[in-house]
Amino acid sequence: MSPSSDAPFELFIGGRDVPGTRGERQTLLDPSTNEPLVQAAVGSNDDARAAMESAERAFRESNWAADDGARRAKALFRLAGLLESRLESFALLETRNMGKPLRESRGDLGYVVRTLEYFAGLADKVEGASIPVPGPRLDYTIREPLGVTVHIAPWNYPLLLAVRSIAPALAAGNAVVLKPASLTPLTAIAFARLAKEAGVPDGILNVVLGSGAEVGEALISDARCRSVTFTGSGEVGQRIAELAARRLVPLTLELGGKGPVVVFPDADLDRAAKGIGYGIFQNAGQMCWAASRLLVHESVRDPLLERVRAIAEQLRLGPGTADGIEMGPLVSREQVDRVLGYVEEARAEGAQVVSGGGRATDPSLALGNFVRPTILSGVPDSARAVQEEIFGPVLTAGTFADVEEALARANATSYGLLGTVWTRDLGNAHAFARRLECGMVVVNEAPITFPQSPFAGTKGSGVGFEQGRAAVHAYTREKNVLLNLGPAKRKG
Ligand code: NAD
Repeated sequence: MSPSSDAPFELFIGGRDVPGTRGERQTLLDPSTNEPLVQAAVGSNDDARAAMESAERAFRESNWAADDGARRAKALFRLAGLLESRLESFALLETRNMGKPLRESRGDLGYVVRTLEYFAGLADKVEGASIPVPGPRLDYTIREPLGVTVHIAPWNYPLLLAVRSIAPALAAGNAVVLKPASLTPLTAIAFARLAKEAGVPDGILNVVLGSGAEVGEALISDARCRSVTFTGSGEVGQRIAELAARRLVPLTLELGGKGPVVVFPDADLDRAAKGIGYGIFQNAGQMCWAASRLLVHESVRDPLLERVRAIAEQLRLGPGTADGIEMGPLVSREQVDRVLGYVEEARAEGAQVVSGGGRATDPSLALGNFVRPTILSGVPDSARAVQEEIFGPVLTAGTFADVEEALARANATSYGLLGTVWTRDLGNAHAFARRLECGMVVVNEAPITFPQSPFAGTKGSGVGFEQGRAAVHAYTREKNVLLNLGPAKRKG
């Protein structure tokens, strides 16, 4: 299993690699050169059906759901251990496929290991409750797995975002069908093979490749689908919500963001600048929770922007596999066009380019999807570059005069994923965090999360949440059982 191998990456259904029924293949390109990288199978409606059937059978016939969870815990811990021992080859595969610097892929894979360990630890703790009721009765609840759960993942953190939802689903005893993004399916397939090695029964984890419109919709519309978790764009999220509503299937949507970063005048500007640089330029800005909308108090605008500009201009761009690279290419040519389209439009609306603003200038990077870290100032709040998710290394910088203005502008988009606040006054930070319309707030740090903390968006950023203890419960249904214990005995 290596990206240079001639063997195509296939679908993983019922515990084995299978070619798609149509025998179709797509050539994936290396984002740093746009040279062919590897061939991957393209699945169809029929493959989606086969995966659902395999999952449903495994759910019924294996004892994955039936035991007390200890077996699931062991398998998931083993999977975490196996992945940790092969972390380097998985990180390399992720980087080659998606483009991000190797050190970021290593970080992502470390996060995947930790996520598996966290949910492995919860697999034997899926408990119900006993509820006091009148009379000689016993009332209790049981948490049962849902059955077959469908998970649709995007390309920006390919394995991490897939495992973020499949780990709790597996821990709760479900059978999973995963559809990775068409551009970045490689680590998901390698991961499914590893799960088999770790003892996850055949059919409990299936991976189907293919287009969202065909394979994704076929999975959600299948009568065996008992829940859908989607991470991706708002537009597709709405379509998925419609499909799920037709079948009354529970739904988790993790969508886009337009994260405000609010810097108060008392902030430590050196730390804030580093955090802002990291929050918008890591993963070349291809992050739902990117800290993409800077709002800085007018009294510290110049010194802060100068610091962030210096960071942007010093970042080393290059292929993710090369040593010392700090920012890789974007995932595809289309993504470059999309990102630069926003920059050009903002310029036409009067924005000043503080830094970057176009493709990388180094001729050795000309064939790849490299965009320079970009800072725009003076962009009107109504501009698409301020209102919409750019999903690239582009920071817009605006100012505010007082707290109320900062809050009003921070909340003035349709998104509500993650907001960042920089101040030394923790009372102010707390008050501001409470009024931000976001599912998550980080104070004095770049965007960060842990498997044990809820990950959630509000407004246009999503429905439901992931991570944390309760994520396992989201993949269960609560059943109430009431026992009448017989006629009450009279006292004496
Ligand atoms: P996308 O919405 O284009 O695709 C996401 C996934 O959905 C892919 O696997 C795709 O094949 C599939 N899909 C597309 N159309 C479908 C359909 N009609 N039915 C079913 N599935 C379909 O998103 P993307 O371009 O892969 O990823 C970028 C987006 O993801 C950004 O908007 C970003 O903000 C969002 N995102 C959100 C989070 C979060 O946790 N909130 C995390 C990462 C990315």
